[in-house]
Amino acid sequence: MASTLYYNTLNPSTAAISIHPKQDVSIFVTFNGYHHFGCRTRTTTMHQQPRRNKKLRPVKATVAEAAPKPKHQTVADNGGDRKAQSKKQLRILVAGGGIGGLVLALAAKRKGFEVIVFEKDMSAIRGEGQYRGPIQIQSNALAALEAIDLDVADQVMRVGCITGDRINGLVDGVSGSWYIKFDTFTPAVERGLPVTRVISRMALQEILACAVGEDSIMNDCHVVDFIDHGNKVTVQLENGQKYEGDLLVGADGIWSKVRKKLFGVTEATYSGYTCYTGIADFVPADIESVGYRVFLGHKQYFVSSDVGGGKMQWYAFHQEPAGGVDAPNGKKERLLKIFEGWCDNVTDLLLATEEEAILRRDIYDRTPTMTWGKGCVTLLGDSIHAMQPNMGQGGCMAIEVYFSISLNEI
Ligand SMILES: Cc1cc2nc3c(=O)[nH]c(=O)nc-3n(C[C@H](O)[C@H](O)[C@H](O)COP(=O)(O)OP(=O)(O)OC[C@H]3O[C@@H](n4cnc5c(N)ncnc54)[C@H](O)[C@@H]3O)c2cc1C
Repeated sequence: MASTLYYNTLNPSTAAISIHPKQDVSIFVTFNGYHHFGCRTRTTTMHQQPRRNKKLRPVKATVAEAAPKPKHQTVADNGGDRKAQSKKQLRILVAGGGIGGLVLALAAKRKGFEVIVFEKDMSAIRGEGQYRGPIQIQSNALAALEAIDLDVADQVMRVGCITGDRINGLVDGVSGSWYIKFDTFTPAVERGLPVTRVISRMALQEILACAVGEDSIMNDCHVVDFIDHGNKVTVQLENGQKYEGDLLVGADGIWSKVRKKLFGVTEATYSGYTCYTGIADFVPADIESVGYRVFLGHKQYFVSSDVGGGKMQWYAFHQEPAGGVDAPNGKKERLLKIFEGWCDNVTDLLLATEEEAILRRDIYDRTPTMTWGKGCVTLLGDSIHAMQPNMGQGGCMAIEVYFSISLNEI
């Protein structure tokens, strides 16, 4: 199921961090000693190494001594006795085992690096996580997955429900009539990219976690601090344990502790909308022709998507202050009031949803920043480019970003 991948069809980011031959962790910067996430157009295929920006220059961080011998010794275990190592044993520490952290870990492992993922709560991976609804994985992210690991991409594509080959688009919430239809199929096929799918987050996490390997993922490991020594980095966990590595990637989500330590406290921006999500056993009459539909209204909107297996997933957005709390078992009732008078596609789906299947969260994002890292530490995914779910790209971008953190082959 491999596709011909063209990098310029993906996020045209640069290779900001390169792990180089010669037992070095060389971090390339464009200005002020900071990693820089630049944007430019590329014409190379994704399988090619990205050309290096001439302006990039390596700074410090040469690893004079080897990382401690795996498996996952703490700093105390190895007594700081770092012996000479091959480049392929460079150790990448990843804070957070969400989509971004696991994809980065997978890409790094496929490049031969040692990886440890610290996840504070693995239940998100196993399935009891709070936000377990399906996620749309679009052509760009599927192509990136193919470039990392064809087998993993195949699994995701087999398990996912294809929506990209049907009508998707925006409709009026009350009348249900179409404003605009998106053709995501033709542009994907024309470029040889896989067609957009929707997949259960837990299925995705499970596939990624299996591919990364249990021995590389440490559960109940809450990263609370780190120290950048210049040529190595020490991560501190809440339980007091410390781990040493050559590079730390903060993939710990929108409320990232790594980000806070790296760049100081910055507030996330409330979108003005709270978001209810639900999933129901429901098959709309037009399931064969419609993949997902966004029902628009005044200060509220509703998104429904086929997720396969006779289930529909939906998101209901409502403009209101953050921090609202519903009465016990009151979510469905509230939503039926908010969306009263909307078309049957919306109300029938709400009626078909069990109260327990409805979750709520306020939607935040962060102002984009061009600086993603400093020294031996960089950020990835929602920790640095959190976005609102409207484009269905937050997770997809986290998948793509492995290419920005370019783990060049030794
Ligand atoms: C309603 C909604 C719908 C969405 N739909 C889509 C969609 O269809 N398609 C799409 O691409 N994106 C979608 N997104 C966005 C997507 O969910 C996120 O962009 C994506 O999950 C980001 O992945 P991440 O790995 O960066 O962060 P997260 O998924 O937040 O993962 C961070 C991980 O780090 C762990 N962690 C946090 N702090 C620490 C710590 N200190 N130490 C150790 N571990 C820690 C957390 O437990 C978590 O497992 C949606 C978002 C929302 C809110």
